Amino acid sequence: MTGELIFIAGWGRSGSTLLDRLLGRVDGVMPAGELREVWERGLVQDRLCGCGERFSDCAFWGKVGEAAFGGWEHVDIARVSELRASVDRPWTALTLLLPPRLRPRRAQVDEYLAVLRDLYAGVAAAANADVVVDSSKIPTYCLLLRAAGLRPRVLHLVRDARGVVFSWQKTVARPDGAEGTETDLMLRYGTAEACARYVTYNVLAHLLRVVGLPYVRLRYEDLAAQPAVGMAAAAGFLSKRLPPELMDELRRAEVKLGVDHTVDGNPMRFEVGAIPIRPDGRWRRDLAPRTRIAVTALTAPLLFRYGYVRLRGAR
Ligand SMILES: [Zn+2]
Repeated sequence: MTGELIFIAGWGRSGSTLLDRLLGRVDGVMPAGELREVWERGLVQDRLCGCGERFSDCAFWGKVGEAAFGGWEHVDIARVSELRASVDRPWTALTLLLPPRLRPRRAQVDEYLAVLRDLYAGVAAAANADVVVDSSKIPTYCLLLRAAGLRPRVLHLVRDARGVVFSWQKTVARPDGAEGTETDLMLRYGTAEACARYVTYNVLAHLLRVVGLPYVRLRYEDLAAQPAVGMAAAAGFLSKRLPPELMDELRRAEVKLGVDHTVDGNPMRFEVGAIPIRPDGRWRRDLAPRTRIAVTALTAPLLFRYGYVRLRGAR
């Protein structure tokens, strides 16, 4: 692809769908949702696009398939799923930091990287966008995009681990059901599992900066409390100006969102119209004290680093 690729890195339940869609209000920016999931949730499961159509019925994704592969029917989805399963894994992705000749399974890796290059070029072309925002978050996947030559710029979105874990423990129905599974639920994690993932994904997001990718960190809480300030920082990173009407809406903390063709993400990707932006601090009231103590202990180094706890007077 010729334009810029913004990669929202970190872990789920940190407000990445909101950030993706807010960026999508800027001219020339395509908020694509979680592109990593286009194969499984799009092509295989035919879930709903953010526009409300099934993936296979959405005209935008039809254009992407056309631009990228001359039509989705030319994609051997069984082969791509197999490649994804073997290449898009944490350890394999980390081997991409080696020089190409030293990489294990080089032919497979190269084949998958070529597919990714075509996909992202197709998204940019179909949207006629000069910036594509990918909210896939998983940092090792971003290493694949880097190895594919897509030059991702990393927007690392962090959130207080206690809010993240609280959110992962709620029961949330998926509103994008595949045929016959309309009531399936979003994934849930227990406390230790969720903390391990929080630490791993955020530490790996720091690695993206270490390997030389352009990087900026944004806290969900700051974005939600002062959307105009948070978005100005994000837009500066994109070298884009925010339109004045969007700045006004951000200052009022209520933005108008239209239809976005997001491929996966939080259920808020389907919301259209005037959307209020408010920090979600329910965990402060509703997270069980024992869980709160456990999460604080298990994620303490990052909570300090991001300024969520201080040495004197925690929080
Ligand atoms: Zn759509």
